[in-house]
Amino acid sequence: MSERKDSTQLREPPSKLGANTQVLTRGYDARLSLGSARPAVFRSSTYVFHSPEAAERAFAIASGKSQRAEGEPIDLIYARINHPNAEIVEDHLVPLEIGAEAAAVFNSGMAAIMTALLTFAKPGDSIVYTVPVYGGTQHLMHQFLEPFGIKGIPVVAGRTEELEASIANAPNLRIVFIETPANPTMQMSDIALAAHRAHQRDPGVLVMVDNTFLGPAFQHPLSLGADLVLYSATKYLSGFSDMLAGAAIARDQSIIGLMKARRIIFGNILPPDECWLLDSRLPTLTLRMNRASKNAQRIAEHLSRHKKVKRTYYPSLFQEPEQIRIRDAQCDFPGALFSLDLEGGKRAAFDFLRHLQIGRDAVSLGGVETLACHPKTTTHSPLSDIELDTAGITDGLVRISVGIEDWRDLLADFQRALDKL
Ligand SMILES: *Cc1c(COP(=O)(O)O)cnc(C)c1O
Repeated sequence: MSERKDSTQLREPPSKLGANTQVLTRGYDARLSLGSARPAVFRSSTYVFHSPEAAERAFAIASGKSQRAEGEPIDLIYARINHPNAEIVEDHLVPLEIGAEAAAVFNSGMAAIMTALLTFAKPGDSIVYTVPVYGGTQHLMHQFLEPFGIKGIPVVAGRTEELEASIANAPNLRIVFIETPANPTMQMSDIALAAHRAHQRDPGVLVMVDNTFLGPAFQHPLSLGADLVLYSATKYLSGFSDMLAGAAIARDQSIIGLMKARRIIFGNILPPDECWLLDSRLPTLTLRMNRASKNAQRIAEHLSRHKKVKRTYYPSLFQEPEQIRIRDAQCDFPGALFSLDLEGGKRAAFDFLRHLQIGRDAVSLGGVETLACHPKTTTHSPLSDIELDTAGITDGLVRISVGIEDWRDLLADFQRALDKL
């Protein structure tokens, strides 16, 4: 919200403050909300101009005809273009993402991803992307971008040499899109290497990372050389499975500026109430993610020894040297998602889900409550047999998003469900 204020009156905190401090102090000026200690919600769709001249100036800047001078106060125009609650939450997202300069919020994770791809890719370009990728992103690539003449080139997550080769050989490469760890087997792709190779080929290639699973607490793509980080804020950022939101956070302000220009056209800015709600969840993000990751690690490591569990997919239990190398290079903690491949196939997986008393059978993830699902028949059901096979998505696989409940209760719940199989 700093743009709105005479810059001499602003009390900017020193920039060396830690992220957990800045998420509470950066940008927001209580005097603009009648002294309210927490931000007010500004639901107005339109804004009253100080003068016709101020309106003319605001439009000149919004249309790009003129540049805003350092510290110049600019009137707000209309809530699809920008509104105070978006500015407040964007100011608070920036310090959470190491290496970030600017952020933009969207009305879902898919809206953020769609806007990122459509801002930078044009017909004739190609996008190298890791698979399995989130189902919505997969559909966007195949059903929408390909008919528009934008070529998607999939690379199986974790196959480092194939990723390098695709980046080297893709015709008119414009975007490298990495989702790591991959859903639901947690296979990791090397962000630093992809960014290095992409920028070596052409500094204009944009490296985007869907950081929904481990970020911003445990994985920092911008510090590994990526240009843009994308989130489904529906997951950990908001954290209570009660809203939809998306975010884009970049190393360079100009990337976000271009995306915000598209956001005006697409009409997909996050509305004021959702911005306010998301903003109120950010100060507890690292607390929630730390607790959920510790819970998951204890539970996954215990369950990996159960006789009904054929294989446990979780970063602290990786066996493959290449996966261990990538994990150690780019993740601070293993996170709160794991998958179990159960003895007994689909029947066992379904019975396991039926027997759970604390964990609930639902898709989505990243909430304070524990959720479990059967990817092959739900989230990953559109995949072909070959794609399922390559991704390791078997009949017996269940994915679990661990919440912040008491880990012993959760472990007992999972063990009880497994013992009954
Ligand atoms: C949920 C999710 C998305 C899509 O986010 P929405 O908020 O549902 O639009 C994208 N990527 C990943 C990794 C997700 O988990």
